[in-house]
Amino acid sequence: MQKIEQITAELGQVRLIAVSKYQTLDAIQKLYAIGHRDFGESRAQELAEKHAALPTDINWHFIGHLQTNKVRQVLPLVAAVQSIDSEKILLEIAKESLRLTKTVDVFFQMKIAEEDTKYGFSADNLIFLLEKIKKTQENDENAFKYIVFRGIMGMASNTNDENQIKAEFKALKAVFDQIKADFFKENNDFNQLSMGMSSDYRLAVAEGSTMVRIGSLLFQ
Ligand SMILES: *Cc1c(COP(=O)(O)O)cnc(C)c1O
Repeated sequence: MQKIEQITAELGQVRLIAVSKYQTLDAIQKLYAIGHRDFGESRAQELAEKHAALPTDINWHFIGHLQTNKVRQVLPLVAAVQSIDSEKILLEIAKESLRLTKTVDVFFQMKIAEEDTKYGFSADNLIFLLEKIKKTQENDENAFKYIVFRGIMGMASNTNDENQIKAEFKALKAVFDQIKADFFKENNDFNQLSMGMSSDYRLAVAEGSTMVRIGSLLFQ
């Protein structure tokens, strides 16, 4: 059995995004050939090259920091942007999705780790933005017409301390539950908690992850 089959079996209902950044077309094709369709990329140029060379029924998830000047290039290629880390990038994607009449799933990236990740919202900043979005929608119901708010995404600290990782995932789950209750109670699309990578996906699933993003472990 291949690694991906082991992991998929272990995950059950939890969705697996195969993070294919730095991987060859051949390696991606192998997973495609056994039926996998959900892949993650974190750089615009690499995504564009892979998108052009690989089958068109792949669901590409953009998972890296996205600059506003790359939105035009990236948006036509992706099913989802998991790394919405500012109001500015959300508005740019909303504008471009209207222009293209292209539906896109979005996830708010949360900053939960103590170190490294520069990008992402605090819970307070996200709530502030969601209030603003609500007001915008009251004035212009089409402003986010092609945006599907799917959930939140986060990365735990890069540490061996399992208790810390667990606490961070718990905190992320608590933010998800609060946002869901306060802003998306009636919205069935908003149901994804994207957390867990190669080194910590088991801890993430135990804390309520609905979607894991696994790279190195799948392609080793
Ligand atoms: C690279 C990356 C992953 C996958 O990391 P692995 O440790 O290779 O599993 C997941 N999420 C994001 C946002 C990434 O940049």
